[in-house]
Amino acid sequence: MADSAAFRKLFGMSKEIYLDGNATTCVLPAAIDAAVQAMRDCFGNPSSTHGTGLKAKALLDQVRARAKRLLGVGSGRIMFNSGATEGIQTAVLSALCALRERRERGEKIGALLVYGATEHKAVPEALAHWNCLLGLNLELKKLPVNEEGRHDLVLLRELAPQAALVCTMAANNETGIISDLAGIQAALEGSQSLWMVDCVQGLGKLALNLSATRIDYAPFSGHKLYAPKGIGMLYVREGAPYTALVMGGGQEAGLRSGTENMAGIAALGAVLGALEDGGTFRSHAELQSFRDRLAAALRSALPGIVFNAPFDKALPTTLNFSVPGLSSKELLDVFDAANVRVSAGSACSASKAAPSYVLDAMGLPTWRSSSAVRMSFGPLVSEETITEACARIERCGLALRAAGLLDDGAVGMPAPEGVVQMSLAGNHTWLLLDSASHSCIVIDQQVELVERIDSLLRSHGYQVQARLSTSDSDSWPAQSGSMPFGAHTLRRIALNGERAAYLLCSGEKVDYAFTGKAPLAELAGRVPAEALVCTGREELNACCTSLRAEAQAAPGSLADMHLDSGALARLLEAHPHAVLVDVREAYEQAACIPGGRSAASVPLSRLAAFVPGWLESTEQAPLVFFCRSGNRSAKAAQCLRRLGYRNAYHLSGGIALASPALSLAA
Ligand code: PLP
Repeated sequence: MADSAAFRKLFGMSKEIYLDGNATTCVLPAAIDAAVQAMRDCFGNPSSTHGTGLKAKALLDQVRARAKRLLGVGSGRIMFNSGATEGIQTAVLSALCALRERRERGEKIGALLVYGATEHKAVPEALAHWNCLLGLNLELKKLPVNEEGRHDLVLLRELAPQAALVCTMAANNETGIISDLAGIQAALEGSQSLWMVDCVQGLGKLALNLSATRIDYAPFSGHKLYAPKGIGMLYVREGAPYTALVMGGGQEAGLRSGTENMAGIAALGAVLGALEDGGTFRSHAELQSFRDRLAAALRSALPGIVFNAPFDKALPTTLNFSVPGLSSKELLDVFDAANVRVSAGSACSASKAAPSYVLDAMGLPTWRSSSAVRMSFGPLVSEETITEACARIERCGLALRAAGLLDDGAVGMPAPEGVVQMSLAGNHTWLLLDSASHSCIVIDQQVELVERIDSLLRSHGYQVQARLSTSDSDSWPAQSGSMPFGAHTLRRIALNGERAAYLLCSGEKVDYAFTGKAPLAELAGRVPAEALVCTGREELNACCTSLRAEAQAAPGSLADMHLDSGALARLLEAHPHAVLVDVREAYEQAACIPGGRSAASVPLSRLAAFVPGWLESTEQAPLVFFCRSGNRSAKAAQCLRRLGYRNAYHLSGGIALASPALSLAA
């Protein structure tokens, strides 16, 4: 069971479609072979003068010569390093040390360190760091970009006479926008400024002839183009100032000390060889046609989609898009469920996405910069991968539509019923849904969720009976202390200050208490000990609890709820009636390729509705919750355990660990 095939059988997982090439790529088989060969047959230290060392040195020289040819390095230098972040540090350090020396000699230097507003964070961070550390205290000046992500060349021309160093990129990692390097070079004409171009996303995708430009420094990274992580290159123009970042044994002609990463260099050499030979990687035209197919599939699956970068100015391997009404987390989750790996165009925390500074710099509206998704692939991508990706995109669109998340009126899933939790940034809104009367009560609605809730209710034909707040007594419309809700009654009880709690009752029995942000201690004597308490804030890492549970919860009782794949196999063997419970949201479940062992569907947002049934069962069969990464399932198992259901477990690490790479590593 610990092996990935058995695991995939259990969860019915399909083959992974990896569309996150701008983050990193897989390793070219020829590069793996080259690395293995370097480790096995050519393991010498290239600095050793004996035969074994000479063999390694020959390999090193061969790869360097290949890189020089391919990048048009001319009389410039190429040094190997650990990757682009190191290359950027070295370039910035070199430029700033030279500027400091010039200033100390009494020469006039520019006052500005200019960098593109959409640069990778490594650039402004390195500039700020070394500027401060070297005591230069030059002014960091962000160069704006236009709505197409291209640098403001008019401003650059104005700044050029005062610029000491200009840092721009060849192509942007989030949008794929290709910089107008010729235009930048023209704007810098006559300026004394040094110029660094981050070429990370350009390698293998843009024709580079570095020595024909005035570029002084150009960092590259192997892992963005089918070489392993931890290997990179830095181009330094002939005559450009240089200061080593790493000192020691004087390797790389003194440019970068430390015994060379020969396995990485050999692998990078194989990739460069494939680029040089042609035939391995797809042509620009083929990549463009792949992008167009993906774009067409996205347009048809996700109505209203907007692409955040013009295709004619971008690498054909990057698509960046936003979909009205859908967060990047929801899109990522649904794609991930379909085993399509994409990334948020912005830094994305568990519940709230920070807007992308790249899209913000392009002046896009906040909804687009905070909900952007990036789909990117490398030039090795196969036709079958694109075809399968298009099919899965369609499936994701159908899943979102069926769940009522695409506001086009089409719904295929049964209407949700009972108690539903909607969370944003650690705060909870609760929906009470009565499908018989089609009525809904909303408790503590967060403004950001209004559209989402309205669309959900509309698509399932629910009418809002009341919108109540636990902190505003005016929201309670009833004259008396209770209102009928379907076959139930909702009662309002006053808490301290202006606060209130709402009790959902079946006859005299209180089933649920919605208590907002009131401390649990305040509820004692007002809420029955066994009622399920649904709070308004993520505090207990549980969807719901009860006063009785909180009085009794022993932290040690959670220790054995985490199952790895081996423990899960043993548990399923010992308890054939154990129930697997998928706590991913309905649209994620619908996006999965069917197969595997059947599982009960209880999205975490609906867990509270199912808890009473489980607690009432006398048998207490083992429940094994699972989700994508193990966070939501841990929450579900913990919730059940706290409430006294001893046999609640979860799959630690989630079904993500079913990927062959991780299983092999285990
Ligand atoms: N520059 C760009 C444009 C990048 O996309 C990246 C990687 O995300 C880097 C620099 C940093 O590269 P590395 O991972 O090799 O340090």
